[in-house]
This record gives sequence, C-alpha cells and structure tokens, in this order.
Amino acid sequence: MKPTATLTLLAPLAGWSAPLDEVPDEVFAARLPGDGVAIDPTEGTLHAPCDAEVVLLPASRHAVTLRAAAGCEILLHVGIDTVGLGGERFEAHVSQGARVRAGEPLLSFDLDFLAQRVRSVLTPIIVTSESGWAIRGRTVDRAVALGERLMELALQDALPDDSSRGNAASAAAAARRLTVSFEHGIHARPAALLAASLRSLAADVRLIARGREANARSTVALMGLGVRHGEEVEIRASGPDAHNALNALTGIFNAHASASPAASPRRVPPVALAPAAAEIATTQLAESPAAHAAMTCGVLRGVAASPGLVVGRARQLQRPEVRVREAGAGAAAEHAALDRARSAVRARLERAALATPANDATGTAREIAAAHLELLDDPELIAAARAAIDAGRSAGAAWRAAVHDSADTLRALDDARLRERVDDLLDLETQVLLALAGEAVGPEAALPEQAIVIARELLPSQLISLDGARLAGIAMAAGGPTSHAAILAAAMGIPALVALGAQVLAVPDGTEVILDAAGGVLEVAPGEARLMAARARLAASAVQRAALASAAQRECRTADGVRIEVLANIGSVAEAQAAVRNGAEGCGLLRTEFLFLDRLTPPSEVEQTAQYQKIADALGKLPLTIRTLDAGGDKPIAYLPMPREENPALGLRGIRTSLAWPQLLRTQLRAVLGVRGPALCRVLLPMITDLEEIEAVRRVLEEVRDELGRSESIALGVMIETPAAALLAERLAAVADFLSIGTNDLTQYTLAMDRGNARLAARLDALHPAVLRLIARAAEGARAHARHAAVCGGLASEPIAAPLLVGLGVNELSVVPAVIPQLKARIGSVSLSDCRALAEEALKLPTAAAVRALAAALPAAVEVPA
Ligand code: PEP
Ligand code: MG
Repeated sequence: MKPTATLTLLAPLAGWSAPLDEVPDEVFAARLPGDGVAIDPTEGTLHAPCDAEVVLLPASRHAVTLRAAAGCEILLHVGIDTVGLGGERFEAHVSQGARVRAGEPLLSFDLDFLAQRVRSVLTPIIVTSESGWAIRGRTVDRAVALGERLMELALQDALPDDSSRGNAASAAAAARRLTVSFEHGIHARPAALLAASLRSLAADVRLIARGREANARSTVALMGLGVRHGEEVEIRASGPDAHNALNALTGIFNAHASASPAASPRRVPPVALAPAAAEIATTQLAESPAAHAAMTCGVLRGVAASPGLVVGRARQLQRPEVRVREAGAGAAAEHAALDRARSAVRARLERAALATPANDATGTAREIAAAHLELLDDPELIAAARAAIDAGRSAGAAWRAAVHDSADTLRALDDARLRERVDDLLDLETQVLLALAGEAVGPEAALPEQAIVIARELLPSQLISLDGARLAGIAMAAGGPTSHAAILAAAMGIPALVALGAQVLAVPDGTEVILDAAGGVLEVAPGEARLMAARARLAASAVQRAALASAAQRECRTADGVRIEVLANIGSVAEAQAAVRNGAEGCGLLRTEFLFLDRLTPPSEVEQTAQYQKIADALGKLPLTIRTLDAGGDKPIAYLPMPREENPALGLRGIRTSLAWPQLLRTQLRAVLGVRGPALCRVLLPMITDLEEIEAVRRVLEEVRDELGRSESIALGVMIETPAAALLAERLAAVADFLSIGTNDLTQYTLAMDRGNARLAARLDALHPAVLRLIARAAEGARAHARHAAVCGGLASEPIAAPLLVGLGVNELSVVPAVIPQLKARIGSVSLSDCRALAEEALKLPTAAAVRALAAALPAAVEVPA
C-alpha cells in the first residue's frame, strides 16, 4: 500500500545521532513512548524539526511535544532525568499553543551545566506511538548538522517500519507493574501524593488493580480501589509524556519503599480515659460556639448576593458536632455498632447514588453520594477505626479519629480540590456518627419548608445538593456577593445575603426570619407586625411580577425606542427553560464549568455536545453564547491537575487554563460545533488579556471547523474582565466578533479586592467610577468596530444600574433569568438621552456610593418589585 502522507524531520540539534538503544533510560530505550533517535548535542538550543504546534511545554521546560501534519506527535526530550532540574538553566522561546516553523528555536539550555548535573545529555527525538506515524528512514551513528534531514516518516499503515525495532514503537501505551509498598496500601495520603505527582503532566494514566481501573489523577478513585500493602498493580499511561508519568508514579512508590518504618510509625490512637454520656449536642462548627450566645432576635446586616425578599425559617447548615463516648463497651460490640452505622449510611447513599437525575442539580447530588460511598468503604479509614476500637475506644470516637487523621493529611497538601474532599470526609464523619446515635441524616431529611439556610460559606456543590423545593433563602456568615455559590443562588432565583458575620451562625433552627436582599438585612424573629408587612410586600410584588412577566415577552427597547437586548446567564438546562419563560432573548453567557462541577474526569466531546444541545433546544431559535471553560481561581475543577498557586485569582484561570491544556479546548470547541439547531452558537472566551490569546483560540477553532467539515462561521467573542482587556478593547474588537464585559472580575481586578472576601464585600461595588470608566472604554472600543458591547457580570442584573450601562454605550445585558422582567421594565422607562446624561454625571463622581445615589434618583416609570 502506498503511503498516504509523509513527513521529514530535520535535526533539531547539531551533534551525534545515535539509536535509542544507547539512551541510559529503560523507558526510552524500550521505546515505550515511541520510536526515534537520540542526539548527543554539541549546542544548547533545540529547534523545531518541522512546522508544528507546541502542544506541551511543561513548567520544567526540559521537553517539548509538537504536533505536526496529520496529528504526528513528536516529543523532544532534552537529556535524561532533566525534569528534576525544575527548569534551572532552561529557557523557553515559545509558549504552549504556539505554531512554529521548521528550524525555529524552541528552547535553550546550558549544556555544560546539564553535563555535570544529569545522567545523560542524550536527547531523544521521539515520534509518539499513539500518533500513528512510523519511521521510514533515519540518520543514525554519525554526526548531524542542525537542520539536516534526520528522519522520514509515513503514516503507520502506509509502509512497514524500516527497522526491526518497529514492534516496540507500535505499543499503544507505556505500562509498568509495581508492588505497593505504602504501609496501609493506597489510601488517602498515598493516593493524594500519587495524584499530585501527575499535576504538571498531560498523559492519561490509569492504575489497575484486581481487575478494576482508576484514574491515577483522582485521589478518590485511587482510594476507591482499596489496594493493600504488598499487592501488585499495573500503571498504564498514554499521551505525549506517558513515560514521565510512569516515572513520577514510580518515584512515589520507590520513595515509600525506602522509608524506614520508623519514619512513618503507625498511629496508635490514645485510649480514652474519661467515659462521657454518649449523646449528641448540636453546636456550630464554623465558629466557636462559646463565642456567640444564641441569637434569638435582632437584625443582621449583610451584602446582597441574589435579589429578593423572603420569609422563612432558619436552618443552620453547619455540620452538627456530635459528642461521642470515648471509651468502648467492648471491642466486639463497638465493631458491630460501627458496621451497623456504616450499613445504614451506605443504604441511604446508595439510594441517592442510584436516583435518576431529574435535573442537573440532582445529577450532581448523585455524584456527591457516589463519592461519599467510596470514602465510606475506604479500607484505611476502616482499618484505622478498627485499630482504635481494638485499643479500647468507642465506635464513634474511633471513627472520628480515623476520619480526622485522613482529613489532616489531605488538608496538609493545601490543594483546593483536595480541601473539597476533606469536606466530603467530614460530612461522612457526621453521617456515620449520627447513624451510630440512631439519628436520621441526609440533605433530603434536613430542610424544613421555606428554609432559610444559614452557613458560614457554601460551596457551589453543597448548594446544588440542597432540596431546591424547600430552599427559600440563603444567609452566609462569610463569602462575597460575586462568589460562585452566590452566582448559583441567583441563577436558581434564591434570595441570598453574604458577609452577615459569625452571629448569624447563632440563630437557632426554626426561628422565623425575613431575608431582604435589597435592604441587605436579615431580621431574626422580627415579630408579627414586621412579618405581616413583609408578607404584604411579597403579595404585592407577586402581582406586579406577573404583570411584568407578560410584558417581558416583548423585545426590550428604551422609552425612545432604542433596542437593548436582554439575554440570560445560565448554567444548566433548567435555567435555560426559566430564562425563556422570563422573556430572555437568548443566552449571553453559559458558564460551562458549572455543567460539570464535581466531575472527577473531564467531560467527553459527546457528553458536552449533549448538554449544549439540550440547552440550545430549550432556547429554540434564540442565540446561545457558550463560554469556554473558566476553571481556576474560586472555581477549582476536580478533573484538572492545577498546580498549587499562591494567588489563584491571578494564576492559571479562564483562557489561560484552556491554552495550557489545548486538548481540553479542542474537545470543547468540537463539542460546541457539534450542536445543531436553528440558531448558531457563539463562543465566548474568559479572562482575555491580549490579542494573542484570541488568535491562538481562533486558530484552533478554524482547525476544528475544518476537521468537522463545518463551513458556517461561528462568532468568537471575548470577555472584558481584566483592566488590560478594557484598555485594549479597541484592539480586541478588531479581531473579536463581540465583547462581553464581566463586571465581577473587572471589579475585583480594578479595585484589587478579592471577590470572595467577606470583609471587602460591602466595598466591592461595580458602580465604582473606575470600573465605569473601563466599561465606557470597552463600549467605545466595541463601537469603533461596530461590535456588540454586552455586560454579563453581576452589575447587569441590578435594575438600578441598567440605565447607566445603556448610557455608557452598552447594547446588550446578560442577566440572571429572574430579573429579566424588572430589567426590561426599567429600560423601557428611560430614554437614551436620559441614560447618557446619567452616565456622564456618574463618570465625574468620586465614589461608588455617590454613583449609587445618583442612579437611584433617576425616576423610574415602573417600581421594581423586591
Ligand atoms: C464576570 O467576571 O463578571 C463573569 C461574568 O464571569 P464569572 O462571574 O463566571 O467569573
Ligand atoms: Mg469572570
């Protein structure tokens, strides 16, 4: 059969070209990652062997993976064991995602330094096994000059390989068998260490034991295998840096084997001396219970995170602290009690895990239950608890000690994703302890009707696991108004206050409260007169809402007929349906990271297309703006191996994350292009700071379009969320199809105030004149190229701000679905000239408070209901 495609690789270095057998590394020599040659370099700059895209450039800069024509992947690995230098004396000349021409410098290294520090400077040039290309001819056993022909490649099934070494090259993946030397098998700590060691690598790595397979990046999945000390496991890795992944994991296994037993003594739980009455006392965990006497009445001030007024009953969501007896009543009885309690919890979790998801929120609840189930049967937890029981502790005390040990280990790793696992562990601690005491537990049993849930701070995953039918309001002691839990609350139409302070944690369960988000107050046991007044306000606003809702089905225009589009921000199919009901003219922001929250593996292209398609179907002919994954910052994504960062908000977030894992971006764009329907999707890029990022994505988008044979163009918009983007808006608008201003981040970055910091919550106001000036600048940039200027940050959902934004030149607002009727009414009540005059005044003011007062004074034709 004739070759269908060929490729020539030029020597990326001058030096001596040798066969891979000479490389002093068993993985390269065995050609596990693929076939190739190795060059003993005489110079310290590595060049591109052909035209290609840089698909992987690790932080250690010791290797580069390129993708050339027809998916041919080439790994250039400078020296052996160089990853351990951590980038010392390496300098990258290109960045990940860049396109390079043959001969272009990729990275430089200090050859003399390397020669002294590492095992070998022999540099393998590998055609990876997975990419389907074979070597037809190669130059070996002689000196080569930079740029000289080094290898001739052909698509693998086109021609047989030139050498007898071809068999190894065709191996689909690298694999290794190892014996587990961790004292307690692969449990919490080793699992976390193994997963963490893969963070800077891209390979897909699986650990196989007893016929079961786990993603080696997932602590929970690894723990769930229940592998014991002394068992043999197999590690399979595939992808460009598969051998590095194997080495990283082997290093962790070996480090453990060599540690003396004395270095990691098995913890013997102390035997309790003082038996106490075995009963449950519910106190608040988040703050010292002694610090706050019960708050039985009064008014607490906070910051509005989701609009609305609601009357309901307080329900504390802090984990109840269950007091347990220390001393056991005999090991046999305590073991049996623990088993019974675990069985009770298991039965409940299995019911939840098997429940058919009625919507995305219950789907996530199901995944949380499944994760809890894995932890419940964690052999390390059970073994540690059993050891403590044998040492004389009660089942409750033993379980608690075992859970806390594991939680401490995970906490010590200081990783946001693992901290969430700590919450799972502590959740499970409570569930088992309550079961031991014969108490029912579980989110479904937890909320009364019209519950105002009170917590120190809720995670998005906790929030969506609550029973939405009973959840009426949210009051958090901490948190910020634009935190992602707050955004979810707004999306669910649940009024929420944040930054209420620790006192809110002392409001007793069942107390009647009024949560008035607009007023920023939580009234605790307000008395009959206040309750009646609040109920009367609610009834009046319900009538007004109904009237506005039917008017909201019309197009939005100012009083003098200027068209302003009002779209919705959504994060699930249910919200898309709510948006249409409320009169949304499309979706201006689909936060795709919310669709797959708490997943332990990245969603496939098919899964993503299916979700996007459901949302597109719910929207019908209306446009759907799909934002690429905005991971990082306060949205850690469990399936992404994010490095630990000192300042996550300033780190690998948004588009930076997508460009760091180009395969994720490619899969997501393919998924978006897979959506079919009457209206085309638009793509929106988060956290843009310059033109290059847009161009890099556009290149991928075009490649993906070609791959899929799609001819229609797809609008590519950018978010203006950084001062850099606002200042460059005119340049960005020249290459982007539309701009969408994310005021949540734009405010955080302009004011240098963390959007999740409760102490700054009251001052984190997007109406700050500095933010308004940047919005004006962005709108002006969009106008210069006749582009749409949208606002999709939280400010757009504040009816008071709408005239101001229109006056600043914004012509599209994307908002939480529940406020659309009020917002359309507000815009319809003002003329463009009023809006412009207001904006002009506001830009001259010195503070956000002054702007707020000015905006509030603008007469409204319609009173906006609470
Ligand atoms: C914003 O920053 O305003 C925005 C819309 O993005 P997110 O809130 O998801 O960060
Ligand atoms: Mg943002």
